[in-house]
Amino acid sequence: MRRPRTVHDVAAAQLCTGCGVCAHLAPDEVRMVDVLDHGRRPLPITPVGAGVLQGGGAAAALECCPGVRLGHDTARPEPGEIAELRPAWGPVRALWEGYAADPQIRHAASSGGVATALAGYCLTGERMAGVLHIGARTDVPYLNGTRLSRTPAELLDNAGSRYAPASPCDRLDLVEAADGPCVFIGKPCDVAAARMARRVRPELDARLGLTIAVFCAGTPTTRGTLEMLARLGVDDPARLASVHYRGAGWPGEARARLTDDPPGRQRRLSYAESWGDILQKHRQWRCHLCPDHTGEFADVAVGDPWYRPTGDDPGQSLVLARTERGVRLVEAAIAAGVLVLTPVAPGILPASQPNLLRARGAVWGRLGTLRAAGLMTPRLTHLPMAGVWWRHLSAAEKLRSTLGTLRRIGRRRLRQPAALVPYEPSVPPGAAVTAEPPATGRGAGQMTTGSPLSK
Ligand SMILES: Cc1cc2nc3c(=O)[nH]c(=O)nc-3n(C[C@H](O)[C@H](O)[C@H](O)COP(=O)(O)OP(=O)(O)OC[C@H]3O[C@@H](n4cnc5c(N)ncnc54)[C@H](O)[C@@H]3O)c2cc1C
Repeated sequence: MRRPRTVHDVAAAQLCTGCGVCAHLAPDEVRMVDVLDHGRRPLPITPVGAGVLQGGGAAAALECCPGVRLGHDTARPEPGEIAELRPAWGPVRALWEGYAADPQIRHAASSGGVATALAGYCLTGERMAGVLHIGARTDVPYLNGTRLSRTPAELLDNAGSRYAPASPCDRLDLVEAADGPCVFIGKPCDVAAARMARRVRPELDARLGLTIAVFCAGTPTTRGTLEMLARLGVDDPARLASVHYRGAGWPGEARARLTDDPPGRQRRLSYAESWGDILQKHRQWRCHLCPDHTGEFADVAVGDPWYRPTGDDPGQSLVLARTERGVRLVEAAIAAGVLVLTPVAPGILPASQPNLLRARGAVWGRLGTLRAAGLMTPRLTHLPMAGVWWRHLSAAEKLRSTLGTLRRIGRRRLRQPAALVPYEPSVPPGAAVTAEPPATGRGAGQMTTGSPLSK
């Protein structure tokens, strides 16, 4: 089986998660771009072969790449962890269910608004300096950019799940340069990358005050968003004023507005139509090889308590504290009245996310098939999967994860290097293009309006 020599090998083999940590660690050599059918991908700043990817940054980028490597130091639960959850769900110290006390946050957010409210508490109650996370770009609202929010209002503006490529690690430099500890919010792979990066960057380690992961079944590509927009009646995405994937209720609906939509014009799809019928079919290949859908490397992880009926419920989050720091900050936010949470039994986690448990098992079958076919696979340590495959997958699912993978090798063209052509969105006339500066990786995807991103 081949091993990647650079992050570009990782991307060419479709193992890139799109987190952007390589652009942070090797900013003079790598920039992140959006590739329509793949996701956010690293491209060399100068052509490969012209002396690029030689520096220490490039080596660190590969070393910290969650596309090729993901693992715990041990499979054994530490004292204080819930032992029964460790094998399939990683370290968990405490579980709660509930929501943000602020009804505006609860309404705007994806589940119960716990990610936004807890991060806000870190700003106001713990005096942290900022929150690195993602939000819609102002010039192209269906693409995402990374930002450092410094106020609860900025956090609220960027609440909600965006089922589209995002690279929150590409601006970890903003955390390193901040004048105090910061919160980092991202998908499980983003948080895993930030955790690996802090091991090689003491300045980052010193300023990561809390990491929050959102549960994730996989990132759909921008092609998925464009298909969803077409179903919402958006023929010309350049006229898009805003797009939301869910929220305004739980789970809420996908919504879009055009700049010239008359007041009252509704463009909506149910969650089942947007995620179920469209977006999940566009998930990048690496997500199908992901054993960590619940943020095992974060201090705190949040997801949906899907075992509950949604109906008229204004929003609920399932909250896992995975580290002592996570426990302390969640308890402090409850005591401050920012979070309304009730402790729940460990069994609520598998009851809420049975699909994510089966997804983890299926990875074991897929990896075996890919290795037998001589293809590159991620190295996963202390993330047990075989037992889940054996116990929780039906016979048909077992076959799909093994023999079905052979079909996917052809359909996904996994034997050929992926063609990574940057997507060029059309922007409305007169709109300032605020992303993807051509000659540097630092700042790719950055926002300029209302955000203290520019350095
Ligand atoms: C691609 C994707 C797949 C998901 N799959 C699942 C799933 O299988 N099961 C499940 O329970 N929940 C899933 N979710 C939803 C997510 O786990 C819940 O929204 C979570 O409970 C957070 O809810 P909240 O109300 O606390 O977050 P909010 O308060 O709404 O805050 C959400 C935070 O996440 C950040 N964010 C949004 N989109 C992204 C992104 N694409 N990449 C990085 N950061 C982002 C925002 O910047 C914001 O800070 C998924 C979300 C995404 C983006």
